[in-house]
Amino acid sequence: MTKANFPSALLGTAISTLIFSTSAFAETQDVREIQAKALEDNLAFEITEGLTTEIGPRQGGTEAETRARQWAVNKLTDLGFGKVRIEQFMMPTWVRGEETAEIIAPFPQKLAITALGNSGSTGANGLEAEVVFFPTVAALAAVPDGSLNGKIAFVSHQMRRSQDGSSYGAFGAVRFFGPNIAAQKGASAMVIRSVGTDYRRNPHTGNTNFSDRVAPIPAAALSIPDAENLRRMIERSEEPVKMKLVLTPQNIGQQESGNVIAEVAGTDPSLSMVLIACHLDSWDLGTGAIDDGAGCGIITAAAKLIMESEIKPKRTIRLLWAGAEEVGVWGGKDYAVVHKDTPHALAMESDFGADRVWRVEFNLPESAKETQDKIISSLGPLGIGHNPSIVAGGGADVRPIIGAQNLAIIDLQQDGTRYFDLHHTPDDTLDKIDPKQLRQNVAAWTTVLSIIANSEIDFTLPPKE
Ligand code: ZN
Ligand code: ZN
Repeated sequence: MTKANFPSALLGTAISTLIFSTSAFAETQDVREIQAKALEDNLAFEITEGLTTEIGPRQGGTEAETRARQWAVNKLTDLGFGKVRIEQFMMPTWVRGEETAEIIAPFPQKLAITALGNSGSTGANGLEAEVVFFPTVAALAAVPDGSLNGKIAFVSHQMRRSQDGSSYGAFGAVRFFGPNIAAQKGASAMVIRSVGTDYRRNPHTGNTNFSDRVAPIPAAALSIPDAENLRRMIERSEEPVKMKLVLTPQNIGQQESGNVIAEVAGTDPSLSMVLIACHLDSWDLGTGAIDDGAGCGIITAAAKLIMESEIKPKRTIRLLWAGAEEVGVWGGKDYAVVHKDTPHALAMESDFGADRVWRVEFNLPESAKETQDKIISSLGPLGIGHNPSIVAGGGADVRPIIGAQNLAIIDLQQDGTRYFDLHHTPDDTLDKIDPKQLRQNVAAWTTVLSIIANSEIDFTLPPKE
């Protein structure tokens, strides 16, 4: 179905109101049609399958990520997108080495462990030290500087499952900041209970960050069963529990990474573009299916449906497959620098797995109220609700450009109930993706894009106070 293009300036108010309601009806029909098409569309799965099969793990700054960029360029070109290109940048790169942990006394046994990104090295011979247990990061932060000299700090607080993933913010702190605090206290190393919700013997990796004022110490995550076992050992032993830790990661200096960009050209060059993002890189342990191959699949499948629909979008839709997100959001930061003068209307990102979208959140100006209401009502049939008290914040890769330009945002929140069972583990593989839920994501994205990309309203937010 195509919409009639009336020269609206020639129409009187009464007629224009009449036309508006007719065209609103037509638009609703269009949205329904494209939504139905998206629910049958397998491209998101095919992209995720291709990327995880033909490339697999693709950590930022590595040769595998370079191959992934070329794969992405070929794929996006084959799909018919315009202006497909790589924007290269350099970034400091850390790579995993050997990683083992064992209890030497009093209950000798091996533990399943993995290094955190930016971890220091123990050297090939490893280190042996007493493990000192803290229930929380706050308990670790409370001890005096120097009090952990020669010890391995162990924090074991437990992440809870939540649909909105909010517990990652609360419990992720142990990984983000814990090792830096332990280093300040003089610890030789730090081990954490993995930031995850599964009971498999799979440790969860992820980046940690050290300030310039401390030398990075070896830092690693135990699988959840192993962390609980270690805690029991400490509780029932009268003598110190001693661990041998071997972690030999390396910093290999500045390496090349890059963003892959593609576009669906809009018909009205006077309108600013819609930016949609995912990240191309993944952690090295799994094949990066849910994080974030699926995200790239979802946004690309939705953009392709818009590109091929009869109604050509008025606004350009730009796809950003960002590089090196996991290891420090290098691609998102580079994009914000390179494109600081490019006018954007709005930004969106898919980076929370492949399970269904259950809620939509907005940060739009008052003038977009009607558009927002239309999106809410169009998403209803897909089982997606709206909580007006939550303001959209955007994904990691679009946040730098959002910050630089004070951009409007729409977040299609995915169900995160099982996301942290798999997140940053060897279990992040294609078989975990439910194709039906993935298609629901594509339908939600196609719905929003079809409305936004055809809207002429000004999405500029009022300046921040
Ligand atoms: Zn991610
Ligand atoms: Zn991740």
